[in-house]
Amino acid sequence: MSTIEISGLHKSFGSLEVLRGIDLTVEPGEVVCVIGPSGSGKSTLLRCVNLLEQPTSGSIRVAGAEVTDPDCDIDAVRRGIGMVFQQFNLFGHLTVRDNVTIAQRRVLKRSRAEAGRIAAENLQRVGLAEKIGAYPAQLSGGQQQRVAIARALAMDPQLMLFDEPTSALDPELVGEVLAVMRGLAAEGMTMLVVTHEMAFAREVASRVVFMDGGVIVEQGRPEEVFGAPREERTREFLHRVL
Ligand code: ADP
Ligand code: MG
Repeated sequence: MSTIEISGLHKSFGSLEVLRGIDLTVEPGEVVCVIGPSGSGKSTLLRCVNLLEQPTSGSIRVAGAEVTDPDCDIDAVRRGIGMVFQQFNLFGHLTVRDNVTIAQRRVLKRSRAEAGRIAAENLQRVGLAEKIGAYPAQLSGGQQQRVAIARALAMDPQLMLFDEPTSALDPELVGEVLAVMRGLAAEGMTMLVVTHEMAFAREVASRVVFMDGGVIVEQGRPEEVFGAPREERTREFLHRVL
């Protein structure tokens, strides 16, 4: 069963048609990187997957559950999806430990001790075991984003969505976040990643999807899309960003 199966997805905001017929499948263990110009609908696509945006038409299945079906238990689907945004959205008044345990305790009903143990494990995974007692303001942006990733991982997601996770970071902090993501990919995590980091996409992606104007213009293995793009629009975009 595919982890994500999107077919005929359209999304409009008023008269603005932002997604104009998207078909996209993500298989278990795949890392699919979505690239494309600003305003092409990348974030909207990601947000439709967990219904942060309601599609105008089309169907989206996540691990077999039809999220676009009004009878779907969307909370259950969302529990299986970790999402990491450009802004880390940590709670400033809570320690790193509490940031990583709060959803485990409230949503998964884990005990304080179990949630704490799983928080420690996942902070270790992102290289921040020693920051468990710190507050977000005491951390760099890169460290905060790694905490946000640990928080998502602590929920045992079967799918991770990343929306430009390094775009708000100072350049010298980008690498540590990408390194964590590369590690997740190597562990076999299924990931859908919107990114401007072309070197990362080229190296880590199983498949690269180029979007422009609300459609997928082309997709393929990184060496195909970067090395021998078929479409003029892809060539233009890559020429601008590389
Ligand atoms: P990208 O992530 O590729 O930059 P987005 O998905 O954020 O693109 O946005 C695509 C288009 O949809 C843009 O023109 C944006 O202004 C518009 N848009 C996004 N979200 C909303 C919204 N909530 N209401 C109205 N327009 C929106
Ligand atoms: Mg965006």
